[in-house]
Amino acid sequence: MTARSPITSTMQDDFQLTITAILRHGATVHGRSECVTWLGDRGSHVSFAEIARNAERLAAALAALGIGAGDRVGTFCWNNQAHLEAYYAVPCMGAVLHTINIRLPAAQVAHIVNHAEDRVVIVDGTLVPLFAQVLPLLTTVETVIVAGQADTAALGDVHVLRYDQFLAGQEPGFCWPDLDEKSAALVCYTSGTTGDPKGVVYSHRSTFLHALSGQAATLTGPTDADKILTFVPMFHVNAWGIPFGAFMSGASLLMPGPFMNAEGVCAFIRAERPTLAAAVPTIWQAIAQYGQTTDIDLSSLRMGTSGGAAVPRSLLRAFQDRYGLRIIQGWGMTETSPVGGMAHRPAGVEPGTEEELDWRMKSGRITAGVQMRITDDSGAELAWDGASVGEIEVRGPWITGSYHRDSAPDSFHDGWLRTGDIGTIDDRGYFQITDRAKDVIKSGGEWISSVELENLLAGCPGVLEAAVIGIPDEKWTERPLACVVVEGEADPAQLASYLAGKVARWQVPENWAFVAEIPKTTVGKYDKKLLRARFKEGELAVRRLRD
Ligand code: AMP
Repeated sequence: MTARSPITSTMQDDFQLTITAILRHGATVHGRSECVTWLGDRGSHVSFAEIARNAERLAAALAALGIGAGDRVGTFCWNNQAHLEAYYAVPCMGAVLHTINIRLPAAQVAHIVNHAEDRVVIVDGTLVPLFAQVLPLLTTVETVIVAGQADTAALGDVHVLRYDQFLAGQEPGFCWPDLDEKSAALVCYTSGTTGDPKGVVYSHRSTFLHALSGQAATLTGPTDADKILTFVPMFHVNAWGIPFGAFMSGASLLMPGPFMNAEGVCAFIRAERPTLAAAVPTIWQAIAQYGQTTDIDLSSLRMGTSGGAAVPRSLLRAFQDRYGLRIIQGWGMTETSPVGGMAHRPAGVEPGTEEELDWRMKSGRITAGVQMRITDDSGAELAWDGASVGEIEVRGPWITGSYHRDSAPDSFHDGWLRTGDIGTIDDRGYFQITDRAKDVIKSGGEWISSVELENLLAGCPGVLEAAVIGIPDEKWTERPLACVVVEGEADPAQLASYLAGKVARWQVPENWAFVAEIPKTTVGKYDKKLLRARFKEGELAVRRLRD
């Protein structure tokens, strides 16, 4: 047999998949698409071309300030125009954008800013008082850039700049550097189950591929005829990658700013008529409730998406029946950029039927690019039969392979990310989260660390033992129930006020159960599974502090 010559790819495989490539595409091909920031009574419209020019100005100004490759720039902002400009300017200049969760308590904000070693933080004017509480705890921040109107006196003697003036001193035309697609672009922290959040660092390549995957109709399939109401915060998992996907598809971005309640969002929807809307179940719930007493107009929406927590069936049905709006559920995590799949119905299933709802109640259908499996306690892979229950593990180009300055070996298994979610997969790749291995509580789309509450309560005079579990809540999906063993008189108000200064107010439990002993597992840990079962059986006498 004659030897054949080897064959290699003739493609331009060295083309770098960067956020700069996304920015260039959006600024040119879709330069007329818009970012619309809601001001409370009207939208402030600015084109993608202008966003790109401002990103160039911002990059030039940051470079003049001494920010260079790999430096971390934090944002402490709502979803708005300035935040979008930072989303592009910082990664495209080779620095790393750290989106800071504004809802974390001050000590945790300080922890993640210090851990990421942010040099500069861009702070929304409305959030200056909140950030001022964090500032004394920060060790690496040199400059605070305030975007929007604000009295900055509370920031003390830190170097403060005004965003508008900062940009006004620069011309557009910043020369974006050539970047390695594998270099760090963005960092977002999880809320750690054991207290300290972990940093997930997204690369240019992972961000590009994740945004590209979102273009498929199996996810949201947007076009430039779409306007996406981005109600998921830009401070958490890059608003599900929507700001990047929009520059690929040309879909306009509708940003709610600080108007994050049902009334605000419904006014925004009425005025700017989005075609797509992304929100956590709690927000959908709030909109549904608001709609019961107020005439709301959702007729512009062709689809809604929900993720971050399981969505109730009654809610999906209510939107379908009342507004003809189909909300499609998706699943993801900070570690997965986040989208791992969405639960669109399979072929042959009629929309609007109970059967379709059955499919939409799945957590998702695995999206191309993500590999998923379920494993049992021994790590063995389980069947995709829709019945075998195990831990969901994932891998793929937008799944994290480690954490920033934290090896966390237990989070990985032979190169797969252990999600901590327990569930099933069926023979068509639909997966269902049936439980969470983690014990943290997700309230209103945000985590509450039970371990943190327990640690604090344990330090409260008179408390002998404390375990906190999540219990269902109509408004917030889940709320904490603190189970406490005390010596002397049980006073929930006193315990709540003890916590009030130490965690964010919304994290303080309103549900309290005073028990003789916390049940323990064989290795002496609190047995929360048993506690949950007791609650479910009505065996815990719950005292409720407020409504
Ligand atoms: P986070 O990293 O804060 O985005 O939280 C990720 C976690 O949220 C996942 O590990 C799941 O436990 C939960 N989650 C996300 N989407 C869903 C969903 N559709 N149904 C149930 N849980 C979800």
